[in-house]
Amino acid sequence: MDIVNENIVSYIHSLEKDDIFLGKLEKYAKEENVPIIRKETASFLKTFLKVLKPKNILELGSAIGYSAILMGFNTDEDTKIYTIENYEKRIPVAKENIKKAGFENKIFLLEGDAMEKMQGLESTFNNPADIDKKFDFVFIDAAKGSYKEYFLEAEKMLGKNGVIICDNVLQNGDVAVSRFAVERRDRTIHSRMREFLYEIKNNESYETSIVPIGDGLSISVRLA
Ligand code: SAH
Ligand code: MG
Repeated sequence: MDIVNENIVSYIHSLEKDDIFLGKLEKYAKEENVPIIRKETASFLKTFLKVLKPKNILELGSAIGYSAILMGFNTDEDTKIYTIENYEKRIPVAKENIKKAGFENKIFLLEGDAMEKMQGLESTFNNPADIDKKFDFVFIDAAKGSYKEYFLEAEKMLGKNGVIICDNVLQNGDVAVSRFAVERRDRTIHSRMREFLYEIKNNESYETSIVPIGDGLSISVRLA
């Protein structure tokens, strides 16, 4: 089930100009079934980055580097992007793409489990000796059943008024229907995602909006 009417999505896509570099990655992702952010999500992210102007970005789930490179193209030269991926088959592809984009000094691919690698980043981004060095933007797009754990870990490294965006929170619309209406194998994710969305919506330290774009985004801004 598409979240937004297919005709509307096609129309929005038709307004997008093609980027040669990212277009090639989109084509590869489609051919190889790599679940990159959708075109309208990419467009949203670009505009959002121009507003936020983050200096330190953390991404969970690099896949082939598509969203990281898109963020690279749409942030200041001195912005640093840390992106984590654990799938051996995708890591070399992501690395090669980052290199081809000329972002070897801007995008740092950390190879391994998102939680473990995040914990490793704490010495830099949650360091009592440098309380100002924090992430101003975290993009969560790794294991869909672990969003709550990711959010709590990311929070430790998130700066004042920092933003956490999660992708795929509407799970093709499944999240909005009863758990009995989704395939048995998808029920754990369904419950976990619902629980996660409920918690962030009711977390008074953040203002959170669930936006039905692409496969659904949650956008949470830390209020202090
Ligand atoms: N953000 C990318 C797409 C990421 S797809 C883009 O839009 O271009 C999700 C990725 O998360 C997959 O490549 C998957 O291998 C990775 N992933 C899943 N579980 C993970 C984990 N525990 N640690 C690190 N990466 C993980
Ligand atoms: Mg995604």
